[in-house]
Amino acid sequence: MPSDNLLEGRVRARLAEIASAGLMRTLRPPAGIDLSSNDYLNLSRHPVIADRLIEAIAREGCGSTGSRLLRGERDCFSAVERRFALFKGSERALFFTAGYLANIAVLATFAERGDTFFSDEYNHASLIDGMRLSAARTVIFPHNDLAALTRLLAAEDKTTGESRAGVRFVVVESLFSMEGDVAPLAEYAALCKRTGAMLVVDEAHAVGVYGARGTGLLEEAGIAADECVSINTAGKALGVSGAFVAGPAWAIEYLVQRARPFVFSTAPPPALADALDAVLTLVGAEPERRQRVRSLSVHLRAKLAEARIPSVEGMSQIVPVLIGDNDRAVAVARVLQQEGFDVRAIRPPTVPPGTARLRVSINAGLSEALLDRFVGVLSCALKEEGLCSAASS
Ligand code: PMP
Repeated sequence: MPSDNLLEGRVRARLAEIASAGLMRTLRPPAGIDLSSNDYLNLSRHPVIADRLIEAIAREGCGSTGSRLLRGERDCFSAVERRFALFKGSERALFFTAGYLANIAVLATFAERGDTFFSDEYNHASLIDGMRLSAARTVIFPHNDLAALTRLLAAEDKTTGESRAGVRFVVVESLFSMEGDVAPLAEYAALCKRTGAMLVVDEAHAVGVYGARGTGLLEEAGIAADECVSINTAGKALGVSGAFVAGPAWAIEYLVQRARPFVFSTAPPPALADALDAVLTLVGAEPERRQRVRSLSVHLRAKLAEARIPSVEGMSQIVPVLIGDNDRAVAVARVLQQEGFDVRAIRPPTVPPGTARLRVSINAGLSEALLDRFVGVLSCALKEEGLCSAASS
C-alpha cells in the first residue's frame, strides 16, 4: 500500500536502491571457523580476562552511572590509562567508549577553522566523520603516497597567509583495515617534523600485533609515541572494547576538558578497565601470540600466491581477496561459509566501487593446515564463479 509518510516513502526507495545495487546487508552471528574477526590475538574469550571482568563487575557494578567528569569516574579508569601510557611510551592516555568515538574526539577537538587535514584516501569512516565534524579543511591524498603528500604540504606553504597560519594534521591508519597494507610511518613522521605538521595515527589494527612489545606499528617504525597522537582500539587485538588515545600530556588534558564524546557521554562500564589491565599483562607475557599471527599471515599469503589468487600485497594479518563485483563477492563468501569458514564479503561504501572483496583475517588460534584447506576451498569457489581461472588447485 503506498504510504503518505514522506520519510517512510523515501527510506523504502533508498532500501530498494541498496538492494538493486547488490548492497543489502544482513546481520549474521558468527558461524564456522573465524576468518573474519579482529580478534587477532585470540583474547576475546580468554578466561583470565573474563574472570577479571566478572570480579570487577561485582566490585563496581555494571554501569558507570555518569560522565567521567561527573560521577562516572573510577580509580580503575585512571589506573589502566596510566598503564596504557607506560605500555605505549606516551606521557598520558585516555580511554574512550569506542574507537569510533576516539577518532571523532581527536579530530573534531584539536582542529579549528583555518587548520588543514591531510587525509589518506582510504582512511576509516570514523576518521572521515571526525574531520567532517571539525571546522578545518580536508585535503585527501592518494593512498600511502608519500610523494603526493609532500607535494600537497609544500603547495599549501605557497598559498595564503591564512592557511599557513593554521595547524596541519596528517591523518592515517598505521595498518589499513580493508587493504591490510602499512603506511610509511617513519617517512610521515620525518615529513611532519620538517613541516611542523601534527601526525595522527589510527593504530586500530596494529596495537597488540606489531612492535617488539606489541604496542603497534609506531613502535616498529621507531617513532616516539609523543611525536604524534595515536588511537589504539581495545575491541580488536586487545579483545575487549573501547579505545585508548595516547599522546603528550597537553593533548590528553585538552581532550579531557573539551572532547565532546568524552565530556557528554556516560563513561563505559568500569569493569572494562580491569579487563584491559589483564589484557595488557597477557600482551606483555605472551609475545608468542603476536608472533603466531604474523607467521600465519605470511603462510596464508604465500599459499594464496601459489594458488594465484589475487590479494593486496603486504605482510599483515588482514588479507583481502579481491573480487570486484558485489554479487560475486557475496556468492564466493557464501560457498566458504557453507564449507564452515566464517568469511565475509566487503562491499561499497566500505571499499571503493568495483573493489568488492573478501576480507580474510588471521588470528592466533588458527593453524597452517586449516589455512591450507581454506585456500583449496577458496580456489574452487573462485573457479565456480568464473573467477581466477589460473588458480592451480
Ligand atoms: N579505526 C579503524 C581503522 C577501524 O577499522 C575501526 C573499526 N572497524 C575503528 C577505528 C573504530 O573502532 P571501534 O570498533 O572501537 O569503534
